[in-house]
Amino acid sequence: MNIAEIRKQFPILHQEVNGHPLVYLDSAATSQKPRSVIEAVKRYYELDNSNVHRGVHTLGSRATEAYEGARERVARFLNAPAAEQIIFTRGTTTALNLVASSYASSVLMEGDEIVLTPMEHHSNLIPWQQAAKRSGAVLKYIPLQPDGTISLADVEKTVTNRTKIVSVMYVSNVLGVINPIKEITEIAHRNGAVMVVDGAQSTPHMRIDVQALDCDFYALSGHKMCGPTGIGALYGRKSLLEAMEPNEFGGEMIDFVDLYESTWKDIPWRFEAGTPIIAGAVGLAAAMDFLEEIGLENIDRHEKELAAYAYSKLSDIEGITIYGPREGRVGLITFNLDDVHPHDVATVLDSEGIAVRAGHHCCQPLMRWLDVTATARASFYLYNTEQDVDRLAASLLRTKEFFGHAIG
Ligand code: PLP
Repeated sequence: MNIAEIRKQFPILHQEVNGHPLVYLDSAATSQKPRSVIEAVKRYYELDNSNVHRGVHTLGSRATEAYEGARERVARFLNAPAAEQIIFTRGTTTALNLVASSYASSVLMEGDEIVLTPMEHHSNLIPWQQAAKRSGAVLKYIPLQPDGTISLADVEKTVTNRTKIVSVMYVSNVLGVINPIKEITEIAHRNGAVMVVDGAQSTPHMRIDVQALDCDFYALSGHKMCGPTGIGALYGRKSLLEAMEPNEFGGEMIDFVDLYESTWKDIPWRFEAGTPIIAGAVGLAAAMDFLEEIGLENIDRHEKELAAYAYSKLSDIEGITIYGPREGRVGLITFNLDDVHPHDVATVLDSEGIAVRAGHHCCQPLMRWLDVTATARASFYLYNTEQDVDRLAASLLRTKEFFGHAIG
């Protein structure tokens, strides 16, 4: 991978922030966008913009082709069997809410079990809490090992024949750990449960094959993978999607409407009420083209190398705690410096042009498990370099100095 060439394609990276060249280390929150994605959205608005599935005019057909073409692009990216199994959503949050309301409400009964982990993002936690409250189902959690990994023996113990749904993140946005989703799926299926995967942090960084994973639902966010904000997707197993009721109603999703009764379109359109996020879908397709041109395997390798470099470089800083396992992680490092609040860490880094995130990362239960209220997090993507890590490490040393601690 030629990182210098890749960086040239991201206009936003070439600026100074607070008098320093920008080092963007917050891609787990949202990634930056390459010129090809920005241009695809611009081109769509300049040439093709119209509403979809209704106009008989030429722009209407072009917009519909672009939107449905984007659906096919997402299906190919995920190796889904058919484009009709891809529902466009606003992002992972909306996708998981759709499953937890539509699918879950039709299958969950009192006493059924929903199995999660304590590392889940609030997006893959609260929708299930609500589903459990509505149905009388119970929530169960696969315990975490001391290093934040999941043991399959614990999965075997937690998932039972009362479990109807297992919903787990593929990659943790805090611990960086890659969970054994294929194996968890196999255990879920052996117990008759459906497997839901939160793919918000995995899809941008590694090759995803929903058929090889054999999961039943898979959610992703476009903005974390070089695409625009406001667009994401839900992949679903065809038989499950076909049995699901929509959770939003209105234009675009109906077949026949009478004053007292209505019927729905086929999948996927029955789940896309109202005018969809057409330009977002076009941008997401362009992002997928961009990532595949570079190669997901190359991106994966580059980030793992960067993560290993960063882990060893940052571990040398006296008084730093890095959370999550050393091995088997993606390119993000969540940490705390002794006696310095993570918000202060992020503020000092920002003053040197380095963007990191600080807070609970939408994972309050995991913060409690780690026994902290917040952490700082540096997250890398295909455009980051070892020099970025060096700038981060040097700046952290100055942060310690600034707060009056010995330099490690
Ligand atoms: N799941 C994980 C693991 C995430 O990191 C995030 C976002 O940070 C989400 C879900 C929610 O994604 P979105 O805000 O794009 O819906």
